[in-house]
Amino acid sequence: MQKGKIGVTSENIFPIIKKFLYSDHEIFLREIVSNAVDATQKMAAVAASGEYKGELGDTTVRVKLDKGKKTITVSDHGIGMTSEEIEKYINQIAFSSAGDFLEKYKDNIDAIIGHFGLGFYSSFMVSEKVEIVTKSYKEGAKAVKWSCDGSPEFTMDETEKEDFGTDIILYIDEENKDFLEESKITQLLNKYCKFLPVPIGFGKEQEWKEDKMVDTGKDKIINNTKPAWTRKPVDLKDEDYRDFYHELYPVYEEPLFYIHLNVDYPFNLTGILYFPKIKNNIEIQKNKIQLYCNQVFVTDSVEGIVPEFLTLLHGVIDSPDIPLNVSRSYLQSDSNVKKISSHITKKVADRLFDIFKENRKEFEEKWDSLKLFIEYGMLTDEKFYDRAKGFVLLKNTEGKYFTLEEYETLIKENQTDKNKSLVYLYTTNREAQFTYIEAAKNKGYDVLVMDGQFDVHWVNHLEQKFEHSRFVRVDADVINKLIPKDEEAVVELTSDERNELIHVFKAVTPTESHFLVEFENLGEDSKPMVITQSEFMRRMKDMGGMSGMNFYGELPDSYNLVVNTSHPLVKKVLAQEQKKLGNDIKSIREAKLPLNDEKTLLEKEKSGKKDDEVPQATKDKLEELNKQLTDLSNQENQKLEAFGKESKLAKQLVDLALLANNMLKGEDLNRFVTRSIELIK
Ligand code: ADP
Repeated sequence: MQKGKIGVTSENIFPIIKKFLYSDHEIFLREIVSNAVDATQKMAAVAASGEYKGELGDTTVRVKLDKGKKTITVSDHGIGMTSEEIEKYINQIAFSSAGDFLEKYKDNIDAIIGHFGLGFYSSFMVSEKVEIVTKSYKEGAKAVKWSCDGSPEFTMDETEKEDFGTDIILYIDEENKDFLEESKITQLLNKYCKFLPVPIGFGKEQEWKEDKMVDTGKDKIINNTKPAWTRKPVDLKDEDYRDFYHELYPVYEEPLFYIHLNVDYPFNLTGILYFPKIKNNIEIQKNKIQLYCNQVFVTDSVEGIVPEFLTLLHGVIDSPDIPLNVSRSYLQSDSNVKKISSHITKKVADRLFDIFKENRKEFEEKWDSLKLFIEYGMLTDEKFYDRAKGFVLLKNTEGKYFTLEEYETLIKENQTDKNKSLVYLYTTNREAQFTYIEAAKNKGYDVLVMDGQFDVHWVNHLEQKFEHSRFVRVDADVINKLIPKDEEAVVELTSDERNELIHVFKAVTPTESHFLVEFENLGEDSKPMVITQSEFMRRMKDMGGMSGMNFYGELPDSYNLVVNTSHPLVKKVLAQEQKKLGNDIKSIREAKLPLNDEKTLLEKEKSGKKDDEVPQATKDKLEELNKQLTDLSNQENQKLEAFGKESKLAKQLVDLALLANNMLKGEDLNRFVTRSIELIK
C-alpha cells in the first residue's frame, strides 16, 4: 500500500474549498458527474480511433444512493485511471504550481477558484471521506483504490474491479446529510445535468405490478443528451424550437421568436435565445437564461455576461469560454465575456431586423409584445439603439405602425411648427384623452400611442436623439397652440374683463389641484373651456413619480383652464357678472383711480434716487397707498369669487371641462348630475 501527501500546497486549498464555497456546495455533484461524463466521452474517442478494440458496453453514468452507508456513488464506464494517472491527475496536477499562484492571488479568492476549477476536490465540501475505485481501459491495467479523508494524506492500493471505468464514492458527512435524500439528488441532477451528453441514470423506471409501483430493470435516465442547441439549425423545425422551449420552461406560454446562436471564432458559443411575450412588469421576467459550459449547467443568472436588457430573453447559452465560478465583477472585466456580450447583442438585433424585413406583417402583429424589450434595449444600450433604430416601430391611434423614418415623413408637412420644429403628438391614454385626440385628428394631425411602461422615458430619449423635434401630449395645450403656426386668433377681452373671469372661474375649480385660468380665442364652435396640462411639468412629475423622490414629483398637479373667449356661454357668464356686480365694481375701480394717480406721482419722484435719498414720508405714503390698493383689489376679487360660487352656469362650464378630462369624480360628479337635471327641467 502506498501512502502520501496530496500536492505540496493542498493544506492551503482544502480550507479554502470548505470555507469559501460553503454556500454553493451542491455543485460537487455537477463536478463529479461531469468528470464521469468526460471519461465516458474520452472512452468513446479511444474506441473510435481504434486504439481500443473491445466492446464499449453500456455507457450510462449511474448515480446511486446508499442511505445506510451514507454514500453517494457515481459510476462510469469511461477510460478509468492507472495508479500513475491518479498520481498525476489527482495527487499532483490539480495543485501543481499552486504555491506560486496562491501567493500571488491570496487576496482574490475568486481568481483562485476560477483558476483551478473546483473539480474533483469539491467533493470534500460534503464528504468526510472520498474513495476512487478505478480501472484503466489500457491492457493489463490493474484496478486501484484511492482513499482520502479530507486531510492532505491519502492511501492508494491495488484492488479488484471487473470492468474498466471509475466509481467515485462519497461518504457524506453529518452536516450535509440532506444530500442523502433521493428528492434532493433528483433536484440537483435536474438542475445541473439535464442536458449532459451522456445518459445519466438515477434509480430505475417503475411499473405498476400487483397493486403497487415496483422498480423495473431499466435505468431511469434523467437527461436529454442531444438538446436542441447542440444540433444544427438546418436539422431543426420551428416545432423543435418550441418543444425545446417547453423542455426548459414547463409552464411558459409560446415564445414570439427564437435565435439560434452558433459561433466558433473568436470564441466558442452555442445557444438558443427566445423572445418571450413581455408583460408590463419586466422585473419578474428577468434571469431566465441558463448558462451552460459544454452542456453542464452553470447558472441562471447571466447578469454581467449579457447586457441588462437581454436578461429579459429566455433560453440557453453554452460556452466553454466563459470563466466559471468567478465573481460578477471579475466576469465583467473579462475580455472574452465582453466580446460574447456584444456579439449576442448584435445577433439579437440582426435577427429582429431580418424578421422585420422578411415578414413585416408578423413583426407588426407581435410588436406590442416586443415593444417593451426593444425600447428597454434602446434606452439602456447605445449600440443596440443604433442597430434597432431601423426597425423600432411607432404605433398611432389608428393602430398603424411606422418606422421612425416613415413617421417623420408622414407628419413633416402638417406638424412642423412656426419655428421649424417637428411636433410629435402622443397620447398616454386613449380613453381619458379622447376629446383631445379627436381635436387633433380633426385638424389633420396624427397621434401616437405611448402607453407602455417605458414610454415616459422613451419619449424623452427620442426627443434627445431627433433634431428639431419635440414630443407633445395631446392635452398639453389647446389645439391651436399644440403646434403653433403663424395664424393666431386674437382674444377680444380687456384686461379688466379678464381679471373678472379669472376670479369667477377660479372660484369654481377644484381646490386639490392648482388651476391657472387662461384665455384663448378657440372659435364659437369649439368647447367653452378646455383643461390642459403643460408638457414640461407633467413629464417631470411623471418621471419623478417613477424614480420615487423628486422635486417635481412632490408638487400638486397643476392644470390650465383655458377659457374660450369667443364662446357665447362664456360671454353670457361675463354679461351676467357685469349685470350683477357692474356698479359695485365700478365704484371700487373709481376709488382706486386717485390712489393710483398719486402712486404714479410718488414713484416718479422716487425713481433715479438712491434709497437713502428718498424722504421717509414718501416711503410711508407709498406703503400706505399700496395697502389701500391691495385692499380694494381684494374687495373686488372677493365679490367676483362670491359671484362665481353662486353662478350655476360658471360651475356647470368648469364641471363640463373637468368631465371631458375624466377629472370629475365622487361627490362633485353627483352634484353635477343633480344640477344638470335642474338646469334642463
Ligand atoms: P478537471 O476535471 O477540471 O480536469 P478534476 O479535479 O475534476 O479537474 O479532475 C482531475 C483529473 O482527474 C481529470 O482531468 C481526469 O483526468 C481525472 N479524472 C477525474 N474523474 C475521473 C473519472 N471519473 N474517470 C477518469 N478520470 C477522471
